Amino acid sequence: MTCLKPEGTLPGADGADGLDFNRFDKMAPRAPEKTPSDLKNGKRVKTNDVAPEGFYFPKYNILTPHMRSPDYVQMSTAAAITLGLVPGKMHRCGCTRCLNLLLTYPEGCRANCAYCGLARHREAERDYADRNFIRVDWPAVPMEEVVDIVARDPEASPFHRMCISMITHPNSDEDTVTVLKTWTDRIDPAAIPISILSNPTTMTRDDVALLHEMGSDIFTVALDAATPELFDRTRGKGVQSPHSWKKYWEILMDARDIFGPQKFGAHIIVGMGETEHDVLSLVQKLVDLGGHSHMFCFFPEKGSLMDHLPATPRDQWRRVQLGRYLIDYCGARVDQMRFDEDGRVIDFGIPKSELDATIDSGIAFRTSGCPGKFAEDISACDRPYGDSPPSDIASYPFALEDVDIRKVRHQLRMDRPGESYVAGEEFETLDEN
Ligand code: SF4
Repeated sequence: MTCLKPEGTLPGADGADGLDFNRFDKMAPRAPEKTPSDLKNGKRVKTNDVAPEGFYFPKYNILTPHMRSPDYVQMSTAAAITLGLVPGKMHRCGCTRCLNLLLTYPEGCRANCAYCGLARHREAERDYADRNFIRVDWPAVPMEEVVDIVARDPEASPFHRMCISMITHPNSDEDTVTVLKTWTDRIDPAAIPISILSNPTTMTRDDVALLHEMGSDIFTVALDAATPELFDRTRGKGVQSPHSWKKYWEILMDARDIFGPQKFGAHIIVGMGETEHDVLSLVQKLVDLGGHSHMFCFFPEKGSLMDHLPATPRDQWRRVQLGRYLIDYCGARVDQMRFDEDGRVIDFGIPKSELDATIDSGIAFRTSGCPGKFAEDISACDRPYGDSPPSDIASYPFALEDVDIRKVRHQLRMDRPGESYVAGEEFETLDEN
């Protein structure tokens, strides 16, 4: 198993139109095609009804077994490697610190988000359990088997956090509760804290409260799009998908009340057509409410409705990563920053010495997400290579070394005096783990 695999569209130095950012008018998803009725709702898997035999790794040359939550869950390839379920090696990472569990059904997610590999429009092309998501395969495993492995010694587990990712399905609220109970019956949440990546569309405030009562620690809402227009275009009416900005905010505010300060947050994908000012204003709003933002760099997921579009240029991404870290953890404010007429950051609004120290610590450029056991600003959820290939890392799933800092500074056009970065030099100077 490897994270170095062929890609469809690779990130270029520039975005749409050769700009150093992805503009709204250049980032329109293509329209979903009509699915033949005999391929809708997981019919192929349900008709064949092949009994699952434990662990299943996505294969396109055999009939996909009929697997269903809460008995089965899917997990990232990184989690499966860390659990020892598949052999493999990840570029410069020994393991992942977050066990991401994804609910699974032959019918799959009933939403149609334009950037997502799990989206409904793929039903004709690929069975749900075989779909790529954030660039990797998601093996399916019996939930009891996952718990058996982790419960042997939770304190010594490599995982600093477990996260249940809900999808849009009529059973996902109930099954999330069952999966959570299967876990907490045998694993103390104090040993491995639990996050919920929610699906607001089917949820009520009572659902949020129940998940809190049952021991989950952090609740996040995948807003993904930074503005209402972008949300509607990529996750709502624009792609025949059921989500609404209003409902997402309603559940986010419920989570704020129920989970409390620092224990709720939102996912945001950067580079789908919003401006840097848009996204950093949203980050500020979340901080002012007492929450956090978890960032993803847009990558054209193979098979998604946006797979023909350019990945986020690295300079746009680095400016937003840095701005988000300053707002989220360093007390900086978006209203102290300055932006150009295209909404790009031109001044972070803090003294140069502080800015230099923040860049050189490297934490701002690591994967962002719910914290683990190292520090509040270091995410357990490291999602190795979920938003970029290892050859051009967007979110670093490991602590940056000097060569990485020089690369990031080069991308920010903020090289230190007398220093430079030569493309690819990190592959020559650093040994693989
Ligand atoms: S709701 Fe989530 S899993 Fe479903 S298509 Fe949208 S982003 Fe993908």
